[in-house]
Amino acid sequence: MSTGLWIDGGWRASRAGRDDFAVVDPATTEVLEHVVDGGVEDMADAVDAASRAYESWAETPARERSAILRRAWELMTERSEEIARLIVRENGKALPDARSEVAYAAEFFRWFSEEAVRAHGDMRRSPTGQNWIMVTEEPIGVALLITPWNYPAAMATRKIAPALAAGSTAVLKPAAETPLTALAIAELLAEACLPAGVLNVVCTKSSGELVGHALQDTRVRALSFTGSTEVGRTLLTLAAQNVVRASMELGGNAPFVVLDDADLEEAVEGLMVAKLRNGGSACTAANRIYVADAVADEFTERFAARIAAVRHGNGLDEGVELGPLVNESTQRKVAELVDGAVRAGASIAAGGGYDGLPGYSYRATVLTDVEPDAEILRHEIFGPVAPIVRFERDAQAVALPNDSAFGLISYLYTRDLDRGLAVSRRLRSGMVGLNRGVVSDPAAPFGGVKQSGIGREGAAEGMREFTELKYTAIPFR
Ligand code: NAP
Repeated sequence: MSTGLWIDGGWRASRAGRDDFAVVDPATTEVLEHVVDGGVEDMADAVDAASRAYESWAETPARERSAILRRAWELMTERSEEIARLIVRENGKALPDARSEVAYAAEFFRWFSEEAVRAHGDMRRSPTGQNWIMVTEEPIGVALLITPWNYPAAMATRKIAPALAAGSTAVLKPAAETPLTALAIAELLAEACLPAGVLNVVCTKSSGELVGHALQDTRVRALSFTGSTEVGRTLLTLAAQNVVRASMELGGNAPFVVLDDADLEEAVEGLMVAKLRNGGSACTAANRIYVADAVADEFTERFAARIAAVRHGNGLDEGVELGPLVNESTQRKVAELVDGAVRAGASIAAGGGYDGLPGYSYRATVLTDVEPDAEILRHEIFGPVAPIVRFERDAQAVALPNDSAFGLISYLYTRDLDRGLAVSRRLRSGMVGLNRGVVSDPAAPFGGVKQSGIGREGAAEGMREFTELKYTAIPFR
C-alpha cells in the first residue's frame, strides 16, 4: 500500500490517477516506500481545504493555537528516535545528525507556541491631531510552503510553526526524495488537535507543474521556499503574477575564515561542524575555507587528520559519523567537482572518491593548493569536501569571502574580538558565526543577503513572513 496525500485532515488517494513514486534509501539504494504522486487536482483540493479552514483558524484565540503547537513539540520530542530513524532512511544522513535535526525541528514548535501569544501592533496619534493610527498584524491567509530534502523535518517545521502561530493556514510540498518525514509531521499535528485543513501536504514528482498551478490561485497569499537559488528565481517570477508575498531561503556557499591569531584547535573543531554537519548537505555548510598563510600548514595538517578519521557507513549503524549523499546525481556532482579541482592543480590531503563505501556515499575530503579563483569555489558543493585556500593580507579575509553571488553565512575565527567584529561587519552575509561553527537557532533570524534569499525564518521575524500590517484610522476624541 502506498502512503497517501494529507488533505483536509486525513489521508487521501490522488484524483490525478498517476503512478505512485518510490522513495529510496540512499544507503542501500532499495525502495523504502511508495508515495501517491499528487496532481494539480490534488493541489487545488489542498488549497481549497486551507482556504476553508482559514477564517476559523485566524479567529481561533492565540492561546489555543499556542497549545496545539506546544503539544506538537511534546509529541515530536517523545517520538524523536522514531522520526530520526525515518529521516536517516529516506535522506541517508548519520543518526547523530538526524537526532539533532529532530531536536532542532521540534524547537520551532515550542518557540512559535510561545511567540503565538505575543500580539504585535501599536497605537499612534496622527501629527494632525485628528485621528489615531491603529496598526495591527493580521494573518496573511493561505501559505504555500516548499521544502528541500536536506533537512526534511526542520525545514518543514521552520515554516509550518510560524505560519500556524500567525493564524495562517498552509499547503506543504516537500521534496520528492524525502516526503515521508513531512507526512509524519502532518499526522503528528493532527494528533496535537490541529483542525482539519489548517495544514495540508501534497507530494509530487511534478513540482513545477503543481506549484505553478497553486501560484495562479489568488487565494494563495504567501510563498515560503527553501531550496536552490535557481528554482527560487523561477518561483519569484511566478509569485509576481498575483503579487504573492515571497520568502526565499536559498543557496549558501559559505566562506570559513581563519585569521592568523585564531585558536587553531577551536577553529578545526568549528570547521568539522560547519563542514560535516548533515554530511556537508547544508545551506550553511562551509564551502570555501580561507586560512591565513602563517597558520595554514598547521591548520591543514590538524584538520586533515580529523577528516581522515571520520567513520563512514550506513547512517543507521552505531558509531557512523557520515552517511551517504541523497542520490546518485549528487554523488556524481561531488565527484566531478573534486576531479575538476584536482585537474586544475589542487591536491588531496585526505579522503577522495567513494570506493568501498555504501550507496551514494562520498568520502570526507580535504583539498589543498586551491587557487582563490578555482572553479570549485564558485559552486555549492553540498557534500563533505573542504577546499582550503591560503591568504596573506587581512584585506583578503574580507575580499575573498565577499567575492560570491551568495551571502547566507560566513564563519570567522580569531582570538581578538575587536578584529573579529571589524571583519564580520564587512562580511556581506545575513549571518556570521564568530568563533562558532553552527548558528542555527529557532530564536534567531535565519536568512541570507544577495542571491541567498529574501526574508528570515525563526525568531519573531519568522512569524512576520506570515502576517501583514493593517492600519485603521480612528477619529481622535
Ligand atoms: P531544489 O532543487 O531547489 O528543490 C527544493 C524544493 O523545490 C523541492 O521541494 C523541489 O521539489 C522543489 N522544486 C524543484 N523545482 C521546482 C520548480 N520548478 N517549481 C517548484 N518547486 C520546485 O533544492 P534541493 O536540491 O532540494 O535543496 C538544496 C538547495 O537548498 C541548496 O541550494 C541549499 O543551499 C538550499 N537550502 C537553503 C536553505 C536556507 O535556509 N537558505 C536551507 C536548506 C537548503 P522536487 O523534490 O520535486 O524537485
